[in-house]
Amino acid sequence: MVSYVPELVEVERLAEAHSNSVQLETLGSVQTGNTSFPLLGLVIGSKDPKAPTCGLFAGVHGLERVGTHVLMSFLKTLFVKRVWDREWVEFFERNRLVTIPIINPTGFALNRRSNTNGVDLMRNAPVEAQGKLLPGVSGHRFSHRLPWFRGHEKLETETQAVADFVERHMFQSKVLVSLDLHSGFGMKDRLWHPWAHTQNEFPHSQHVQRLTNLFETTYPYHIYKIEPQNQSYMTHGDLWDWIYINHQKKHPGVPFLPLTLEMGSWMWVKKNPWQLLMADGLFNPVKKHRYARTMRRHLHLLEFLLKATGSSDQWL
Ligand SMILES: [Zn+2]
Repeated sequence: MVSYVPELVEVERLAEAHSNSVQLETLGSVQTGNTSFPLLGLVIGSKDPKAPTCGLFAGVHGLERVGTHVLMSFLKTLFVKRVWDREWVEFFERNRLVTIPIINPTGFALNRRSNTNGVDLMRNAPVEAQGKLLPGVSGHRFSHRLPWFRGHEKLETETQAVADFVERHMFQSKVLVSLDLHSGFGMKDRLWHPWAHTQNEFPHSQHVQRLTNLFETTYPYHIYKIEPQNQSYMTHGDLWDWIYINHQKKHPGVPFLPLTLEMGSWMWVKKNPWQLLMADGLFNPVKKHRYARTMRRHLHLLEFLLKATGSSDQWL
């Protein structure tokens, strides 16, 4: 059954409350049954195409609502700070933040991982993985009834919308850093950097290393396991590998560091096994105190990525 998506309403309300500084864009719409949902993007800060740009993304997988919630929790704090904190006012004069908090609204509405066509949006891009793959999990074209379905060689509306949005607002900037928020794998919060489709070295791995060193020096007690995604598993059709490859064709050598946060949801389940009885119980904190803690847990990481993007001349 299709229900409405409260998170979409929240994005619209947040943009409205800060409409003097935040630009709300409708990137397209997707439909399930008779209900259609907008794809919403927000842009805040410098209009200079070259301005350093940080992109924050979430809600690729409809069951992983917590990623969207963590991102919204950060944006709420940030947009208020932008009003009264002179440092952030100045920051946004020189830099830009772009964000899509819910990439897959039909997945949210249907309470499932894939979109309404049964396509896993993190397996849909035209990138073929090479090497040791996990059968099924790495992406397949057998049937939309099975999880991790890549689609039939057609880009989904959501995939195209994210790519266009990133190209419009990020591609021309002199440094790009992005984070895509997910949950559902392992006991630890992982911070992944590319590649997802190959074991080869990522062309900007030195830059990733410098950013990682900066983070570890700034937050010596941080909680993340930082590693290339291909150490956990490799996939076909990774959205960020594809967007990175497109970016490098158009702007060779310009540093673009697309990161993924994979929140280790198994620790929530371990503490509260009953939540496995819920459809999205494997992917989200359920108990109130644990939810609130998760909302606070990543604020410093997201703020760090923004600030580091803006001060990239200090570490790049
Ligand atoms: Zn995910």
